Amino acid sequence: MERGHGEMERDDGRYGRERERMVEDQLVARGVTDPRVVGALGRVPRHRFVQEALRERAYGDHPLPIGEEQTISQPFIVGLMTSLLELTGREKVLEVGTGSGYQTAVLAELARRVCSIERLPRLAERARATLEALGYDNVWVRVGNGTLGWPDQAPFDRIIVTAGGPAVPPPLVQQLAEGGRMVLPVGSTDNQVLTLVERVDGQIRERAHSECKFVKLVGKYAWEP
Ligand code: SAH
Repeated sequence: MERGHGEMERDDGRYGRERERMVEDQLVARGVTDPRVVGALGRVPRHRFVQEALRERAYGDHPLPIGEEQTISQPFIVGLMTSLLELTGREKVLEVGTGSGYQTAVLAELARRVCSIERLPRLAERARATLEALGYDNVWVRVGNGTLGWPDQAPFDRIIVTAGGPAVPPPLVQQLAEGGRMVLPVGSTDNQVLTLVERVDGQIRERAHSECKFVKLVGKYAWEP
């Protein structure tokens, strides 16, 4: 199932071509080939999630600043993490670290509903406005400490954390549904291991995927502010 959210809002042409190149060179060439993931990154207008002055660089192979010392993740990382979630279109997803809302939009294209938590109110507000302008109506953005999860909406079929903490926050494990998958960076503040946590027959399985580098996950069960 593919959703064509906010088709009218998409400023294509030049950006559309840059997006196609991004998908080919940064995702497919490096092994992120899941057609649904490739399709979603090919549709979501990444330039709309960065400030005007940085739009020219929106499709480059790097993260970019989004204010408040935070960054929009590199396209490859968004593609990789989304692939690891193995979304089918039926899932309720929890995202911790809304940031620009770009990853949120990619998830919204591929899941039933996305509940996203951001600790910085200004970023949450801007992400909400961007997502609304693009027509995403299956996304809820809330301000708070995402390491506590979103108990009212739990359990979640999928959980993604887009900031790096020292360990897997226990409330997130508790809120992971049976058969669910969680992807998150775990490690030091300098570098982390992209970690996959699954709940299979009531048991928690954890495995390391690859190295990565994210901004700090802050709050209880994570780093001090
Ligand atoms: N996926 C986002 C990445 C943003 S960077 C994007 O591509 O734009 C990570 C975000 O996590 C930052 O905005 C930061 O403020 C937020 N964050 C850090 N710790 C958090 C916490 N405990 N709860 C919620 N958000 C948190």
